[in-house]
Amino acid sequence: MKLETLAIHAGNMVSDSRQPVVQPITTSTTFLHQEDSLIYSRANNPNRLALENLLAKLEFGEDAAAFSSGNAAGMAVFQALEPGSHLIAPDDMYHGLRAQLIQLFKGILSVTFVDMTDPDQVADAIIPETKLIWVETPSNPLLKISDIKKICKIASDADIRVACDNTFATPVFQNPLLLGADLVMHSSTKYLGGHSDILGGALVTKKKDGFWEKVKFVQQTGGAVPSPFDTYLLCRSIKTLPYRMKGHAEHAGILAEYLLNHPQVEDVYYPGLKRHSGHWVALQQMSGFGGMLSFLVKGDAAVADKVVSKLKFFSNATSLGGVESLIERRAASEGPDTQTPPNLIRVSVGLEHLDDLLTDMEQAMER
Ligand SMILES: *Cc1c(COP(=O)(O)O)cnc(C)c1O
Repeated sequence: MKLETLAIHAGNMVSDSRQPVVQPITTSTTFLHQEDSLIYSRANNPNRLALENLLAKLEFGEDAAAFSSGNAAGMAVFQALEPGSHLIAPDDMYHGLRAQLIQLFKGILSVTFVDMTDPDQVADAIIPETKLIWVETPSNPLLKISDIKKICKIASDADIRVACDNTFATPVFQNPLLLGADLVMHSSTKYLGGHSDILGGALVTKKKDGFWEKVKFVQQTGGAVPSPFDTYLLCRSIKTLPYRMKGHAEHAGILAEYLLNHPQVEDVYYPGLKRHSGHWVALQQMSGFGGMLSFLVKGDAAVADKVVSKLKFFSNATSLGGVESLIERRAASEGPDTQTPPNLIRVSVGLEHLDDLLTDMEQAMER
């Protein structure tokens, strides 16, 4: 089956004699003790199984684990590492996961942050205790591109696991497991959910190995699992994911070109632009460039805040991946430890009509 077909059909695991076409929501927390039956909803639930089956297929993995947020999914990977392990992470990564590594796992795991757009920096950071390389590409919020294949080659030579945060690209545009990664992570709050109304996260594994057993133990015993309703909603949303992503990417590509030619713009970060330093690598490993972009306005934080506040169709709010356009001055959301430039505006380009989006941007950028 092709992606569009899988997205529509792989999320159904209906076992009901009346044969509904859509997987019903099973709210029961417990199940009758019978051979092959589920036991308890924290360990497993029909809607979660349907979602996990769907995600494993979309990412070409053997199994998946759904969580109550993207952060919970990422944390499950870190918790599955032996204490004392070292990991290598990108200097530009989702700030919440970075905060986990620095604050929550302080004294338990050690981490080296490197510029992963340069694979040599990854190789140089490896020490005997290195057990995991965490990749995020395109990265949040600078849209940096890391070469997944090259990093996985370096990792496999040293017998190190690679996990890739694939939230920005989605399985529509990038499949890290096919490029050599062992694990894929998603914040399903974003494009998978697609309507800014579900919080969720997921991991997909290439192989059901011992490490994956630990991850599943963290999921089921840690208990940061999504509700039947949220997993149902995700299966519903993913049916339109391939078409939504085509729209997001088309709009983002045109908006990126528009901003690049705007006199008030200092720089634009979008991997689809030829001038983007990661464009060539993105062409090799992505089949589309996604719906996220960032740009630097000429001026300071106050100028950037003004642009954001004047927009009508781009809501000034954090998060991304919904059908509605969202925009924010990113450093303000990341708090005092941010490394993001103060004049950087991050845009999640939505599915409103492109003319409305461009007209709105035009009026907001007027000085
Ligand atoms: C939002 C996000 C996360 C965290 O996911 P939550 O669902 O908010 O917990 C992780 N990585 C990336 C790239 C994200 O955009």
